[in-house]
Amino acid sequence: MDNGKRNNEAPDSGEQTTKKGISRRKFLIGGGVGAAGLLVGGGLWYRNNLPDSAIESAFNRALSSDRNRNYFEEDALHVITTGTGAPLPDPNRVGPQAVVVAGDQMLVFDTGPGSTRQLALTGLSISSVNALFLTHFHSDHISDLGELMLQHWTGTGVEEPLQIYGPPGVEEVVAGFVAAYQPDRGYRIDHHGADVMPPSGFGGVAHTFDIGTDLMASEVVYEAGGVQVIAFNVDHPPVVPAVGFRVNYKDRSVMITGDTIYSDSLIHHAMGADLMVSDALNHKMSQMLSEAGEDMENNLSSITEDIQESHIKPEEAAFVAKEAGVPVLMITHVLPPVPDFLKRPFLRDARAVYDGHLQMANDGTLISLPVNSDQFSIHELLG
Ligand SMILES: [Zn+2]
Ligand SMILES: [Zn+2]
Repeated sequence: MDNGKRNNEAPDSGEQTTKKGISRRKFLIGGGVGAAGLLVGGGLWYRNNLPDSAIESAFNRALSSDRNRNYFEEDALHVITTGTGAPLPDPNRVGPQAVVVAGDQMLVFDTGPGSTRQLALTGLSISSVNALFLTHFHSDHISDLGELMLQHWTGTGVEEPLQIYGPPGVEEVVAGFVAAYQPDRGYRIDHHGADVMPPSGFGGVAHTFDIGTDLMASEVVYEAGGVQVIAFNVDHPPVVPAVGFRVNYKDRSVMITGDTIYSDSLIHHAMGADLMVSDALNHKMSQMLSEAGEDMENNLSSITEDIQESHIKPEEAAFVAKEAGVPVLMITHVLPPVPDFLKRPFLRDARAVYDGHLQMANDGTLISLPVNSDQFSIHELLG
């Protein structure tokens, strides 16, 4: 079992010195957070005539921003939904990804399109990722793998590649992305030098776990720093293999469904968890979209009908959470894409069966589960 490769230190706010002698933050919070926060007040004239000193101080403020740092100082199982969309384009959501931060571990689940940028914008350092876990190999769950591997390598010049865990097939997927990024690897080493971009840190290493196809089957696939990751099978027709994950840290746990239809086994795997992060497809809305798209000269209508066979309904996810005694249910992988004013209708049938905390996650929603308690708190890191 691989353990976390570099971050054995506590997630405190100290400084350390890299091999290049550059002082940097020890853990988690990378530079550059808040670049989107280069908001400049004042009128149009002022903005058009901004002195260099104001621009310089705006960059300094952005690079020193620790606005999300405090959330991670508490000893808790932290879960961030960095990507909450699905394959259909959604202006408000990138492809699926969840991130777990607990103790000295930072674990990533899936790499949907655009998720690497959202992860960077939360302020978490991608070079601090200890391991990536893939639920299955639909493109909307893997297409940012090249970017995640690249940012993991280039962020601080790590010397070990990204560790990537998945069911059978993960070797092929990783090898393909590594091959596709070979020219870029060469450019970056040539451009910045091997000291800044150690060649050994490029790419990823695949670790396969095989738990067969029994929906009740599960297996511990990773343990490090007090964090345990358990993989379990899910039913995601026609995709085999497809898995979900349960992550345990001290007395807290989260169950991440991945993509699945309803199955009684989900209740078993979610039993007693503090948080469930579930995909969901609103069948009624998907059917409406399918019918609305019937006259279009593309595949929207047939695709939105077909996908109804592959995803759990919000009310089914709510039923699982209720039966398993899970007090917080966050809906992700939102299908079909909906504007804000349809969020409540999307979850209406789910609310009828579940009286725990239920909401649609956003890109950047942080759910913190402090240890030795049954409390939870929710914050928006990208809002
Ligand atoms: Zn899928
Ligand atoms: Zn998907």
